[in-house]
Amino acid sequence: ALTIKDIDQIDFAKEGGLVPAVVQHADTLQVLMLGYMNAEALKATLQGGLVTFWSRSKNRLWRKGETSGDTLELDHILTDCDEDALLVYARPKGPTCHTKTTSCFGTETAPGIGFMGHLAHVVKDRAKAPPADSYTARLMQKGIAKIAQKVGEEGLETALAGRAGDLDELHNEAADLLYHLEVLLMARDTRLENVLETLRERHRG
Ligand code: AMP
Ligand code: ZN
Ligand code: ZN
Ligand code: ZN
Repeated sequence: ALTIKDIDQIDFAKEGGLVPAVVQHADTLQVLMLGYMNAEALKATLQGGLVTFWSRSKNRLWRKGETSGDTLELDHILTDCDEDALLVYARPKGPTCHTKTTSCFGTETAPGIGFMGHLAHVVKDRAKAPPADSYTARLMQKGIAKIAQKVGEEGLETALAGRAGDLDELHNEAADLLYHLEVLLMARDTRLENVLETLRERHRG
């Protein structure tokens, strides 16, 4: 990941002092927006922890969310092979597009497997500020033994559906299993990323 002392390495000269910066959601990997950074914007981003661009229309530093409050909290930054483009991993406080969609590229939530990361955020929000009718909040209240039991039940139902071969049923039961697994991981203060890291390590070995 890029640090302050790496700023000199970036090839700002190529495009008149600016490099394109693709912003990607740190948890869902959804591409959120494209902006431009000069050295000053990159420095402000790395120092302040909030993603800051050079606005070509305003012709000044622009901290994303400075008026809307929809800031982007920096996770880390990568550079491309010839160091003239940036990939910024961040967590958005709200919708990233000024049209109030999560991403500037379409209105959908995180595509593909990234939706699991989105679901983890939803589950966490339910636990923190439970709406009256939230199943997740009620489940959390019942405690870890009940959550673990649900994972066991849904695991068995998934296995039975897989054996029977009805795809609708298999999809439904597997969805129940993944959801309850997310809740169990959260209840134990861990996350799917850690599970995936375990898989990744096994793959290396
Ligand atoms: P904000 O930085 O969210 O406070 O928005 C301030 C202004 O920046 C908006 O009114 C838009 O003109 C512009 N803006 C905000 N978000 C984006 C974006 N994702 N892409 C391009 N322009 C944006
Ligand atoms: Zn390049
Ligand atoms: Zn947009
Ligand atoms: Zn089920």
